[in-house]
Amino acid sequence: MPEWVHLPDKYMASATPYIACPGCDLLLNKIHSSSGRKLFCPRCETVIYQKKTNSITKVLAISTAGLLIYIPAIFMPLLTIHAMGMKQSGSIFDAFLSFYHQQYYLVTILLFLTSILFPLVRLSILFSVSLQLKIRLYSKSLFFLFRTANYLDEWGMVDVYLIALIVSIIKIHKMATLEFDIGFFCFVFLVFMTRATTSALEPEIFWSALDELKQSSTKTIKQ
Ligand SMILES: [Zn+2]
Repeated sequence: MPEWVHLPDKYMASATPYIACPGCDLLLNKIHSSSGRKLFCPRCETVIYQKKTNSITKVLAISTAGLLIYIPAIFMPLLTIHAMGMKQSGSIFDAFLSFYHQQYYLVTILLFLTSILFPLVRLSILFSVSLQLKIRLYSKSLFFLFRTANYLDEWGMVDVYLIALIVSIIKIHKMATLEFDIGFFCFVFLVFMTRATTSALEPEIFWSALDELKQSSTKTIKQ
């Protein structure tokens, strides 16, 4: 028998009267409530609801900023290294090409997927889904797209590359003179935007809004 959980109205739009605890899968009944408090699972105390206002608007704004900064972050030089009278600079894309020319194919594929393709696809999907929810433009692919974006969150690893980059900078800064280029700041910004979409994204609000949009578009077609 499900326990009870009081949820604000926007959570009630979903077709199902139940909500599953993300921590222990305990099934809970939804009940109308205007409360903005943090709500916990009665069994494992995982947070079931935490007030995240304007999740859709925030995700739309952050994903737009992320997409705008994406091209300079990937294609512009990160660092210029001066050592022994030589000067060299490179971007994330140059690193990808360099691994490819050195025939490190597995690394090349991993770098391409996790730091170039997946973050771009995820940001594009979140932009498209949140924009369509905002302008109330329904398409059948919305559910599939949003599910894909959630899945890709685990595979985008731009933050891992930022850590690797910082470790490399610490290691070589005594041997060479380093100059930070515009691409480095764009890349740091991209990492923040990628993480910010995750923290602003409230899946339940998105699923409820998608459900509601689908139901209202079906009614419009019937009329
Ligand atoms: Zn639980």
